[in-house]
Order: sequence, then structure tokens, then C-alpha cells
Amino acid sequence: MLVSAKEMLQKAKAGHYAVGQFNINNLEWTKSILLTAQECQSPVILGVSEGAGKYMTGYKTVVGMVNGMIEELGITVPVALHLDHGSFEHCYKCIEAGFSSVMFDGSHYPIEENIAKTKQLVADCAAKGISLEAEVGSIGGEEDGVVGAGECADPNECKMIADLGIDFLAAGIGNIHGKYPANWKGLSFETLDAIQQLTGDMPLVLHGGTGIPADMIKKAIDLGVSKINVNTECQLSFADATRKYIEAGKDLEGKGFDPRKLLAPGAEAIKATVKEKMELFGSVGKA
Ligand SMILES: [Zn+2]
Repeated sequence: MLVSAKEMLQKAKAGHYAVGQFNINNLEWTKSILLTAQECQSPVILGVSEGAGKYMTGYKTVVGMVNGMIEELGITVPVALHLDHGSFEHCYKCIEAGFSSVMFDGSHYPIEENIAKTKQLVADCAAKGISLEAEVGSIGGEEDGVVGAGECADPNECKMIADLGIDFLAAGIGNIHGKYPANWKGLSFETLDAIQQLTGDMPLVLHGGTGIPADMIKKAIDLGVSKINVNTECQLSFADATRKYIEAGKDLEGKGFDPRKLLAPGAEAIKATVKEKMELFGSVGKA
């Protein structure tokens, strides 16, 4: 059964570790992540962007697939199914479809409008026991065609949004979606510290987890980050393993063209990446 991410992130914040959000794109992705979470006895958040939801033919299909896998694979660790960077409208679509968690990304609205929309979602999510993530300050890089500059959030605006009753908060601290450029300046720990001072127990979310050095991840967790989003890194490891399989000509040997064989190295590679992240974030054994 899917659970809200509220309790798992409150426990993570209190226990000074972070829970990974791993974005899913298809059946292989979902299966690899769920099996690894179970093996590591780690709570896990499955992230679904609007684009990935559309690709998987809609939110209802995603809910059916994830619930089916939890049952058929005998998954007992806490699993949240979470809309990543949702519009106001899509948050409601996911609530209706059976997601257990949603992120409303109102960071591109003026702060007053972000507050008004977040407020309405707080009430509707609370009534259904669904956890809600909000965002202040856009996160750099590209997410489903939306390009941000990697700015730092205003800590006072973070407090205004946190006080509305959301469950966890994403704030820009110089992080970027996708691969980090060579001249990246690193995370702004002053901003993170200022945000945590004002928001207290609120679990904070670090987006764009791919390519942030391990010591920066550890420091961010020390400063109140309880959820870290990983997407690009699984895509890179899947693509790399698949390319090696093809380049070695294995699809031409015997029945190597069978999609179940062709996609197997990529699926295994995702497992290794997820496990590595769970170890780094400290969520192993915390289920
Ligand atoms: Zn993000």
C-alpha cells in the first residue's frame, strides 16, 4: 500500500538522514527501484514528472502499475508515489488518480499567488492524507521544458510557504536539474542554513541530486535536507549499460534481441545507482 511521505520525512529529519526520490519512467525503472528499496530496507519515494506520467499513458496507469508491483513483489518498506513539479491542475489529477504525495511547483508565480494556490492544496491534501511539497525559488536547469537559472530562494518567502501547513519544502540553493556545468559554484550552504533556521522542523528537499559531490550531500543533510531527488543519474546509468550491451553485439547473439534481455543490463544498472544513493543518504535500514 502506498503511504504519504510525511511521516518518513519527519523521521528522516529527526534521524539526520535523507530519503531518496527516484523518478520513474517505465516498468523496468519502477521494478528496479522498488526491489532495491526492499533489499536495502529503505523508505522510498517514486517521483513522476508530468511528462513521465504522460509517457506512461496517464496517472491512473502509474498508480495501477505501482500498486500491483508492491503487492506482487511483496514490498513491505514504505513507498510514496509522488508527483514531481506538478502544476496546480495536475496536483488534483494525481490526487484523484490515487497518488499518495504531490509537489506543487508554484515557484514561477508571484509569491502571493504561490501562497494562495498552495493554501488551497494544503487543505485538500490534508483531508485525504496526501503529503504536499511546495517550492520557493526556481531550481536551475531544465525540467520538462521549463528552464530555471539556479537561483537561491529568499528564506523569508520559504518561511511564509512553510507556515501554510505544507509537509516538506523545496528551496533553490544553487542546485540544478540535469548534469552540472564545469563552472558550477556549488550549493549555497548559507542560504540553506538561513532557510532551516526560519523553518525549523520542516523537512527540506534538494532537487537535482545528480552530480552533487558526496561531501556537499552530507553537509546538506546536516543542514536539514531530508529528501533528495535523483533522476538524471539513473537515466545515465541505464543508457550506459544499454549502450555497452549493444556495442558488445549481445543483441545479435542467440535471443539477445528479446526486450527482457535487452533491457536487463540497464535495469541492473539502475539498481546499483539507487543502492549507492541510499547508502550515501543514510536511509538504508530505516524502513
Ligand atoms: Zn526538481
